[in-house]
Formats: sequence, structure tokens, C-alpha cells
Amino acid sequence: MKNLPLAAPVSRREFLGRVSASTCLLTLAQPAAGQSSTRRKLGVALCGLGNYARGQLGPALKLTQNCELRGVVTGSPEKGGAWAKEYGFPAKNVYHYDTMARLAENLDIDIVYVVTPNALHAQHVIAAAGAKKHVICEKPMAVSVAECDAMLTTCRANNVKLSIGYRLQFEPHYEELKRHARELDWGVFTRMSGGFSSVMKEPQWRAERKLAGGGPLMDLGIYPVQAACMAAGGTAPVAVTASERPKQRPEFFRDVEEAIDWTMEFAGGARGDFSTSYNDNLNKFRAEAAKGWIEINPAYSYSGLQAFTHAAPVILAVPPSQQAVQMDDFARCVRDDLPTRVPGDMGRRDMVIIEAIYASAAQGGKRVEIAF
Ligand code: NAD
Repeated sequence: MKNLPLAAPVSRREFLGRVSASTCLLTLAQPAAGQSSTRRKLGVALCGLGNYARGQLGPALKLTQNCELRGVVTGSPEKGGAWAKEYGFPAKNVYHYDTMARLAENLDIDIVYVVTPNALHAQHVIAAAGAKKHVICEKPMAVSVAECDAMLTTCRANNVKLSIGYRLQFEPHYEELKRHARELDWGVFTRMSGGFSSVMKEPQWRAERKLAGGGPLMDLGIYPVQAACMAAGGTAPVAVTASERPKQRPEFFRDVEEAIDWTMEFAGGARGDFSTSYNDNLNKFRAEAAKGWIEINPAYSYSGLQAFTHAAPVILAVPPSQQAVQMDDFARCVRDDLPTRVPGDMGRRDMVIIEAIYASAAQGGKRVEIAF
């Protein structure tokens, strides 16, 4: 790793002291799983009971303080019944995708969390919002900007909040990244790099355009897109260039990309080079400024993130569940009528960027300016 000069060198002890002081502030400022609350818990219904719901969101809802699991939307009544038993909610709170309108009559449920394949997000968010429920929608928000617009319009018309499942926006290593981007203690991050890739072994909907909307960029590449915008102080790029790599398994990735590389250009000259693939393993984000750098590696996992700077490892207290922190924060925003830090507009922003990346790749790497 390249070492950049430090303006004011800090000892490891001094550095760790600074980091732990800032962590304490973050921990206090942030509603965390485990934080006690005297106010009522909101009811969540998970819509889609696949791997992420079963492995992460359900268990996280056993840790949350501001909300709890009170219902499900599923195509399988048997599966719904098993969830009702495990989580202790009544069988009447098991819905089918076709009966979501009836959620409107159910006062147990305040928030619907949509965790279905990407191409179904729009219809399920719109159904939940139509039933006057606040909504969390998994990433990517949808498979097109046009769908994002329809979702935002419906949520506004029904006066409900919409949030995107960007769990890393609450993760302490990313809070640290955002703090450096905000306080500019090392200067502006001008150079970013990294990527997120994993080898897809079994056929699944993620390799089908009809349900996924695209390939690894939609599923994994969206994480470095998010991280780059955080390092750029919450701003979006002004332009992108991209190129799809030749497929090694064309029969497997028939109508989606297998791997894609892209560059994001930010106002002021900052630039990030990233990649994503379903045929590789990569899990890294790095941001460099004139007086310092930070690298997060692994960068996007559910736990075990590690970060290093030019000076030292970054040692942070990490809550037991990223998803519990994320859901507790949204429940608090709903309960206290506060804006969420991961609104639907952020999901739409990322879809604009993703569409521009695909447009550049389709035009042989032409520079595509971002227009919101
Ligand atoms: P999954 O395939 O394990 O689960 C999808 C669920 O949707 C299943 O219960 C399936 O029965 C249901 N479904 C309803 N209609 C369907 C249809 N027509 N075709 C296929 N399935 C249908 O997928 P997953 O890994 O749980 O991912 C679901 C969503 O969550 C995706 O949008 C994904 O991007 C997102 N996700 C987010 C994270 C994160 O860290 N934020 C992690 C994993 C997945």
C-alpha cells in the first residue's frame, strides 16, 4: 500500500485515542441496537422470506429496540406460519403478495421491509405504501430510475417514509470515512478505488435480467458506488465511464454482465476506479487525500470489517448487528417524524449512477455525464 506524507504525524496511542473518542461520540449520537427505549416499538412486516430475511433481518429484529417483527408477506402460507410461531405474532399477520392491500387494516404493522428480488421491489413498495405503511426497500431500490420515480411518487402521495436497506451507512468504519470526508482533516479525498466481487456458483435469479435488472453491478457494485459517494462528502459523481469485461461463462451470464469496471468523476477532480464481478473475489474500498488515506478491507461484509489508515489500524466498537442499527434508526425516524439518512432519493441517485455506468459500457466506454 502506498504511504502518503502526514502533515502532523500522530503516534499510534494518540491516534487510537482520537479514534476511540470519536467512536464514543458516534456511539452516543447513533441509535444503536441495545439502546433502551421507553417508547412503543413499531411493528415490521418482512415482505419476502429468502436468504437475507432468514439469515440477517429476522435475527436482527430480535435485537432491535425500536421495532419488532409482527408480520410477513410471503408466497408460502406454511413458511409464514413457521415465522409466526418463531417470532410470536398472530397467523392473521401472514399475508400473500396479492393481499398486501389488506395491510391497511392491520394496526400491528407500521413498516413493511421489502426483501424480494430487485425487479419486484417497485410493485411491493407501491403496494405497501398504498396500504399506508412506511417502507424499507432493499438495494438496489429498483431496476430503473423510472421505477424509482413511481415509488417515490406513491410514497409521497400516501404520506409514508421510504428508506433503502443501506446498512453500511450506519456502520462505524463508514461513519469514520464520512467524518474524514466532512472534516477534511487529511484534505479532500481525490483518489478512490476498490470493488466488490464474488464467485456465483449456482444458477439463481441474480443472473437473470428479468428479476435482477442487471448483473453484479446491481447486486455488489452498488456498494462501492455508495462508498465513493460517502468519501465524496455525500455528493454524486458528475460523470462515469465503464467497460464490461469479456465473459468467461457466457452460458451462465446470458443476459447480464459477468464483470464490469467503471470510473466515477466527482466535481473538483476527485476520481474513483472500481470493479465488480460474479467470477472473482474482491471486497475493498480505499480513499486517498493529500495528507492521509483509509482502506477498508473487507469493506462490505455483514461483520468483521477492518480499516487501516496511513497511520494505524482503525479500532472501533462495532454493534452486533448492522441491520438492527439500520432498522432501529428508521423506526425512530418514523416514530419521531424525522428524516432518514438513507431516503428513497438516495436509492434513486444510485440508480441514476448505475444506469449511466451501463450506458457508458454500452457505448464502448464513452464518458456519460450524470443528470438527475
Ligand atoms: P432470495 O432469493 O434468497 O429471496 C428472495 C425471496 O423473494 C424468496 O423468499 C422468494 O420466494 C421471494 N420471491 C417472491 N417472488 C419471487 C419471484 N417471482 N421470483 C423469485 N423469488 C421470489 O434473495 P435474497 O438474497 O434474500 O435477496 C432479496 C433482496 O435483498 C435483493 O434485492 C437483494 O439485493 C437484497 N439483499 C440485500 C443485502 C444487504 O446486505 N443489504 C443482502 C442480501 C440481499
